[in-house]
Amino acid sequence: ASEIIETDALIIGAGPCGLFTVFELGLLDIKAHLVDILPKVGGQCAELYPEKPIYDIPGFPLVTGQQLVDNLMEQIRPFGPTFHLNQMIEAVEVLGTPEAPRFRLRTDAGTVFDARTVLIAAGGGSFLPKKPPIPGIEAYENRSDGSGVYYAVRKMEMFRDREILIVGGGDSALDWTLNLQPLAKRVTLMHRRDDFRAAPHSVEQMRSLVASGAMDLKIGQITGLRGEGANLEAAICRDNANASFEVSCDTLLPFFGLTMKLGPIADWGLNLHENLIPVDTEKFETNVPGIFAVGDINSYPGKLKLILSGFHEAALAAQKVHRYVYPEKRLTFQYTTSSSSLQKKLGVA
Ligand code: FAD
Repeated sequence: ASEIIETDALIIGAGPCGLFTVFELGLLDIKAHLVDILPKVGGQCAELYPEKPIYDIPGFPLVTGQQLVDNLMEQIRPFGPTFHLNQMIEAVEVLGTPEAPRFRLRTDAGTVFDARTVLIAAGGGSFLPKKPPIPGIEAYENRSDGSGVYYAVRKMEMFRDREILIVGGGDSALDWTLNLQPLAKRVTLMHRRDDFRAAPHSVEQMRSLVASGAMDLKIGQITGLRGEGANLEAAICRDNANASFEVSCDTLLPFFGLTMKLGPIADWGLNLHENLIPVDTEKFETNVPGIFAVGDINSYPGKLKLILSGFHEAALAAQKVHRYVYPEKRLTFQYTTSSSSLQKKLGVA
């Protein structure tokens, strides 16, 4: 049995709003753990528009998606949050009472939390991989020995000595081509045209591996898969002149981008309204006492899906979280500018 991690606050989602929630909780002496499906923090800002400028963050006339995330990470560093990336919260179980809530949460990687409060900052929901439209692909999914079809690489070692076909033309496809090539038996990269969206430097590295004979590049599309039972043997492909060819492989890694789906949150017994979680606007608490929702995932009259709204929501939710975590303590309102106790927590006094 895995060890249970106890925490005052568990934040689901490490997007900008989840990250700023760490700050607001930290000022109130509440430590947090965060879980995110993605291998990196920053949610939509880091995943969908890292290099685009944002113009409506108060106090920043211009900041890119990634710069905002980097700044938030710097801002919350004094509070030492613990991140559990690459895993999705699948199940939430209510253990306590409405007055003294407690929750048991589990991720798909087997991590278990015992949390006094839960703050859902899951944005548009889970980022899930887009699946390629290949008939019969399901037969080769859900294996764990490195053969078959995978939409994410969790452990590179799993793919040692495999004959791998990677499909796609973006950064994920190119990064995994370069990372897996040294340990695989053979890597083939396939894309529908000889033009890549990935970082030019990665594309150059890939081309030089192809030129030296260390890997293969094919232009075309997969139309089917061939194998014995659940054992993948080859991809049946078509080139742009409609000629059919096969690529021998025991592992297929398609990287066709991500879409956002609500995912398992729909099954947690929370009220939902059009795939969003209704909250009150005093505490941003859901219909389950002790579970809060901040950022893009929540809904209330007048809600705007803006980063600045999520920041405000986090500040107010933290006040109520404090009441659950420290029922005996009175909370006094303080400014970071003038409170030496807040400054001590921030490590600046
Ligand atoms: P998200 O950023 O969506 O992060 C949620 C995180 O939760 C994700 O990382 C996800 O993987 C994770 N997650 C979900 N479910 C689970 C689960 N079950 N277990 C574990 N993790 C989970 N807003 C502005 O204010 N100004 C702008 O100029 C602006 N421009 C934008 C431009 C584009 C192209 C886009 C797409 C959005 C823009 N936005 C802008 C909107 C802004 O990005 C969102 O409002 C913001 O990202 C919401 O933050 P969040 O933390 O609530 O959610």
